[in-house]
Amino acid sequence: MLKKKSLRVPLTSIPPEGLEKEVDLGEQYFSRWREEDPGLEFADARINGTVRLEKHGRDVLVRGHLQGRLQLTCSRCVDNFDAPVDADFDLLLVPGPGPGGDEEELSAPDLDLDYYTGETLDLEAVIREQIILMVPLKPLCAEDCKGICPKCGAVLNREECTCKKD
Ligand SMILES: [Zn+2]
Ligand SMILES: [Zn+2]
Repeated sequence: MLKKKSLRVPLTSIPPEGLEKEVDLGEQYFSRWREEDPGLEFADARINGTVRLEKHGRDVLVRGHLQGRLQLTCSRCVDNFDAPVDADFDLLLVPGPGPGGDEEELSAPDLDLDYYTGETLDLEAVIREQIILMVPLKPLCAEDCKGICPKCGAVLNREECTCKKD
């Protein structure tokens, strides 16, 4: 598992040919993240992958691949289940205080844009955002999840109930 500080990358440490960072986030990492952010929409996770950094002047192109699993809560039956995740992302980090300035000028089509300040890139923030993007809006444990009976509360994947359907 990576130490937190190793996801902070000084700009000067990126050589002209680029820099590749391994990402390996396990149980301890996610329990710490949940303590910092109790609103997280997954219960547990394991994520690994690689992130490649390339400098283009003051802009830094971040290309990453993350994979692993997220433990999600089904939006129908409220059971926890493991979902495999796998995602590639490209992101351009540009220096600046944040959105609102000459944003339009800089944005390239098909490329997400984010901002950094100072001389150090916070890869952890980038990776966290990508992980949050992998969480579906309405997670389902199975396409045909039967959910919970609105009348008696029975979990219909596991038990049948005798309530009349309207
Ligand atoms: Zn379900
Ligand atoms: Zn019922």
